[in-house]
Amino acid sequence: MIATNAHRIAVIPGDGIGKEVVPEGLRVLDAVGQRFGCAFHFDTFDFASCDYYLEHGQMMPDDWKAQIGGHDAIFFGAVGWPETVPDHVSLWGSLIQFRREFDQYVNLRPVRLMPGVPTPLANRAPGDIDFYVVRENTEGEYSSIGGRIFPGTDREVVVQETVMTRIGVDRVLRYAFDLAQRREKKHLTSATKSNGISITMPYWDERVEAMAPHYPDVRWDKYHIDILTAHFVQHPDWFDVVVASNLFGDILSDLGPACTGTIGIAPAGNINPERHFPSLFEPVHGSAPDIAGKFIANPVGQIWSAALMLDHLGEREAGAAVVRAIEEVLARSEYRTRDLGGTAGTTECGEAIADAVLSG
Ligand code: ATP
Ligand code: MG
Repeated sequence: MIATNAHRIAVIPGDGIGKEVVPEGLRVLDAVGQRFGCAFHFDTFDFASCDYYLEHGQMMPDDWKAQIGGHDAIFFGAVGWPETVPDHVSLWGSLIQFRREFDQYVNLRPVRLMPGVPTPLANRAPGDIDFYVVRENTEGEYSSIGGRIFPGTDREVVVQETVMTRIGVDRVLRYAFDLAQRREKKHLTSATKSNGISITMPYWDERVEAMAPHYPDVRWDKYHIDILTAHFVQHPDWFDVVVASNLFGDILSDLGPACTGTIGIAPAGNINPERHFPSLFEPVHGSAPDIAGKFIANPVGQIWSAALMLDHLGEREAGAAVVRAIEEVLARSEYRTRDLGGTAGTTECGEAIADAVLSG
């Protein structure tokens, strides 16, 4: 029997270290259940993996939407095993399908400097950097509209369109303003380039201006993407919530985590905020074939993704407790994995974080 108030989670470990770090995420969620009394029901699926592809000739069963569409969230590891299945096949046959079919129009990435994690930025301490990048995930610069004429000749002409819709822009801005409003600083920064991109970006700015009066307590500003990337490096303490179109958000959501440490700890959410469809939470890193099978992968990216998932499910207190537990454990050198200069294995690190949740 599934408890009626249980959060129903579709668990998809995928490939490589996904299969090693997902169990650590589940271990921590189990601790969350004990500590905070929230109930979870987990269903694990073997599709969206290259093993599944090798057996069935496709990444997912035909009825995958029916199988996971009714869940509250998807807890995802990593997909890809390029030795046997090309990345474009594995990616397009799984993650991209989820994003599209489940209308996950927000890509959310926290940027937070954790203790014990080396940052390439000089003179920065944990606490200095703590913000979110909110990326528009469905339209913008990444449309497939365009074409070539006179291909292969000297007269070659290539065009690709940017698509912005009022619905598409407004909904991601609303998500970002809502998030800013819930935070202490209540500060939103919009990425733009309306001095160079003369039609779509002024429209983006216009929609930010139209949205802002609905959030009178949120302070907002906008920066052109070029100077904004410089500020990420020079003044990361300035930011709170940064909202950006698909392309600019893509860049910022890699730059932000790069400023605050290793790929092994960064989490991501692909979110359908209205919860008409399940949202997907995954670490930023991939399946890491080079270290798979050794149980040395850092599980923090996966565990932090669980914290994002808890926030999305409305379990904010539990989500914050998981982030605190990660910080507590990373601050102590004995539970750091090799990518952080430590010697701990995947399981030791995961167990330490689960214990910190229980005793926190
Ligand atoms: P993508 O899946 O986006 O194509 P990729 O396959 O190029 O990414 P990753 O799988 O993320 O890259 O791995 C990049 C590098 O980072 C590899 O050397 C890998 O071992 C290392 N790495 C990735 N994730 C982790 C982790 N959780 N812990 C330790 N090292 C990691
Ligand atoms: Mg890969």
